[in-house]
Amino acid sequence: MARYKPVDQHLSKLLPVSFAEQIVPGTFEYALNWLVDHEIDLTVFDARYCNDEVGAAAYHPGVLLKIVLFGYARGLTSSRDIERACRENVVFMALSGDTQPHFTTIASFVAKLPDEITSVFRNVLLVCDEQGLIGKALFAVDGCKLPSNASRSLSGTRADMAKKIEKIDRAIAHMLDTHRRQDAGQNTDTLTQREQQQIETLTRNSNKLREWLATHPEKTNRKGEPLKSNITDNDSATMKTSHGVVQGYTGVAAVDAKAQVIVQASAFGIGQENGLLPEVLQALRSDFSAIGSADPLADATVLTDSGYHSEATLQRLADDQVDALIADTGFRSRDPRFAEAWQHKPIEKQRQPGEHRSKWFGRADFIYDANRQTCICPNGKQLKLKTVNIVIRGRRGVGFEGTRAMCQACSLKAKCMRKPDVSPCRQITFFDGSKVKETHPQTKAMKARIDTREGRLLYSRRLGIVEPVFGNLHTKGLRRFTLRSRRKVDAQWKLFAIVHNVEKLRGKAP
Ligand code: SF4
Repeated sequence: MARYKPVDQHLSKLLPVSFAEQIVPGTFEYALNWLVDHEIDLTVFDARYCNDEVGAAAYHPGVLLKIVLFGYARGLTSSRDIERACRENVVFMALSGDTQPHFTTIASFVAKLPDEITSVFRNVLLVCDEQGLIGKALFAVDGCKLPSNASRSLSGTRADMAKKIEKIDRAIAHMLDTHRRQDAGQNTDTLTQREQQQIETLTRNSNKLREWLATHPEKTNRKGEPLKSNITDNDSATMKTSHGVVQGYTGVAAVDAKAQVIVQASAFGIGQENGLLPEVLQALRSDFSAIGSADPLADATVLTDSGYHSEATLQRLADDQVDALIADTGFRSRDPRFAEAWQHKPIEKQRQPGEHRSKWFGRADFIYDANRQTCICPNGKQLKLKTVNIVIRGRRGVGFEGTRAMCQACSLKAKCMRKPDVSPCRQITFFDGSKVKETHPQTKAMKARIDTREGRLLYSRRLGIVEPVFGNLHTKGLRRFTLRSRRKVDAQWKLFAIVHNVEKLRGKAP
C-alpha cells in the first residue's frame, strides 16, 4: 500500500521577513525603488492633497507609484489585483512598506495620473539620458492599435444611432402589441416579469441613446464626412487591426536605436496614423527640452513605415528640418530583393496564365461592367460601388464592396475572403490601366532616397529597433487599455513606456 508524507494544516510557523532584503540589487524592483526614491520629482503630486492642517494622512504617492508600476511590470493593471498583491506578494509588501492601500485608493491615483505622468516620464527619460542610453542618432516610430474599455456595439454615426433608436422602439412596440393580442382571448393584461424587464431595459437603452444624441455633436474627418462616435468612450475610434476590427486607441512610441529606450509615447483615438508623426516628434522635442537636453532631432534620422507616409507629413517634416526615412506602400515592390515575392508583384502578375489558381476568388471570378460601373460577385450578388477614382500603387481603379449582411451570410465566404472572421465583407478593385503621374515632390524625393542601397540598408534597421519594444510590452500583458478617455489612456500608455525604460535602467541603480 502506498505511503505519503503526513500533512498538518494546523501547524504554526513564524517566518521572519526583512522587507529591505526583498528588493535585490540588479532587479527591476530595485531600479524602480531607487528611481522613485531618488530621481522622480514627487512634489508634482502635492497639489492633489490639502490635508496639511486637517484630515487624515494620505498614502505616499511614491508608494502608490511604485506598486502601480511594479504591477504593470507583472501584468497587473487592475487596482483590485494590485491591492491583493500588496497583501500576498512579499515584493509588493516591501515596495509599499506593507501599507496595503485599498483598491479604490489605487484606482483613484491612476485615474488622476494624466496630470502628473508627463513629469514622471521625463524624470525617467532624464536618467536614461544621463546613463548614456540614448544615442540621439536614429529613432524609429511606430504604433500599436489596441482595444480599450469601450463597447464596439455602441458606436456609429448619428444616423446609425437614430436607426438604432428606431429599431429599439419598434421592438418595444412589437412586444407590447404581441402581448396585447395574446391576452385578448384570455381576458388578462399582465406582462410577465421577464417581459416587463425586457421592455424596461430596451426603454432605458433607447433613452440613453436619445440623451447622448442630444448632447454630442457629430464627429467628422478632415473632409467633413461623418465619423463613428462611441457612447462609452467617444475619444476612442473604430479601427482595423490584424486581429479584426476593434474599438480602441493607437499607442505611438518613438524608440531610440542605441538601447531601445522609449523616448516618446502618446496615445491617439484615431486609426489612421499618417498624420500623427509631426505631433509625436514635436512632443519628443518638448520632452528633451524639458529635461534640458539639446534638440534630439538635430542630427538624427527618423524611420517609420508606410502607415506614416503622406505628402502633408513629408512636407511638414521638411519645414521642421527633420531628417526622416519613410517608406511608401510600393517600397517593397520596387526593391529587387523582393522581385520574386508573390505579395510584392504587380497585381496583374500575381497569377500567370496556366499558373495554379488561387484558392480565393480573384477578379476573373467577378463580372465587372466598366460602362455601367457594376460588379456581380461569384454568388450572383451585386456589389456596392465604393470608390470611382481609387489610386493604388499609382494605378487608377474603381472599388466595390459587398455588405456585411450579404457576405457574412454567404456560403462562399471562405473562398471569397481571406479572413472571413475579421473582414466584414469582400472588397475588390478593378483597374482601368491608367497610371497616376507622381505629382507630389516630397514623395518623389523620398522614393528616390529610400530606393538607394543606403536608404534600404538604413530603413531595414527600423524593424529591429521598434518591434521588440512592442513585443516586450505585449509580454507585460498590454493587450488592451483598461481606462476611458484619451487623457487616461495616454497616461496608461506612458505608464507602460516608463516600465519599459525602468527595465533598461536595471543594473544601473547604485
Ligand atoms: S462573400 Fe460576398 S462578395 Fe463574396 S461571393 Fe459571397 S456574397 Fe459575393
